[in-house]
Amino acid sequence: MAYWIDTHCHLDAAAFEPDRDAMRARARDAGVEFCVIPAVAPDNFDAVCALAHRWQDAYAVGIHPMAAPQVDRDALQQLAGFLQENADDPRLVAVGEIGLDYFVPELKTGALRTRQDELYLAQLKLARDHGLPVLLHVRRSVDEVLKGLRQIRGLAGIAHAFNGSRQQADIFLEMGFKLGFGGAVTFERATRLRTLAAELPDSAIVMETDAPDIPPHWLYRTAAERAAGAAQGRNEPAEVPRIGAELAALRALAPAPWAQRTTANALAALPRLAALARAQA
Ligand SMILES: [Zn+2]
Repeated sequence: MAYWIDTHCHLDAAAFEPDRDAMRARARDAGVEFCVIPAVAPDNFDAVCALAHRWQDAYAVGIHPMAAPQVDRDALQQLAGFLQENADDPRLVAVGEIGLDYFVPELKTGALRTRQDELYLAQLKLARDHGLPVLLHVRRSVDEVLKGLRQIRGLAGIAHAFNGSRQQADIFLEMGFKLGFGGAVTFERATRLRTLAAELPDSAIVMETDAPDIPPHWLYRTAAERAAGAAQGRNEPAEVPRIGAELAALRALAPAPWAQRTTANALAALPRLAALARAQA
């Protein structure tokens, strides 16, 4: 039977405090067999690891580029130590979330730019040394992210919340990466992204939510609604089947074969998750 994988969801987020286990159970009932829970900084490595074990899911450890201003100087050593200590953990499937963010102005110039660039390259090296794929955060930084991947060769993984051009997509695909698509693709006005989602090869795409962020259109509250007091909608892995069905429709496919295809893609991108899937089958 076909099932879905949410390849990127921050299930340790405070937004899930009230109903964390129920939220994960809803996703399982909806057919989301695995969630991949990325860390963002050393202080949540233990949390994402514990959740992955509690729910028989998978996790990744890494330092998010937006955490660059907050993390200690020894964050990289903490990451290296965690990877060493947990090298045999079958649920540790990638290094992430790592990458570059040139959307946030303070991170784009000066010392913080240098800092996030250094963190990114050092983490690519750690992933390579541990034989792990990477989960990439790419915002206004596709060319620079690709430059790092050409420098530290032999890595693959997933470019999460992909929003680049077709040409940039093709470079990632040639390098062996998959591209993560989620709630953003459900917005009719996202014409460029929807065209990309419709036209990329079958082997290119994995599904994700980035929960609790990037709500699909049916959960999204506009700026006006929020000004009137409505909270922004909380995204969660149980939304993957509906997001996936919308994406499948763009490709003139039924949901079930698309679930099967994107699950196969996710397992190809994350070999340790494939081993878990075989063991749990
Ligand atoms: Zn993320």
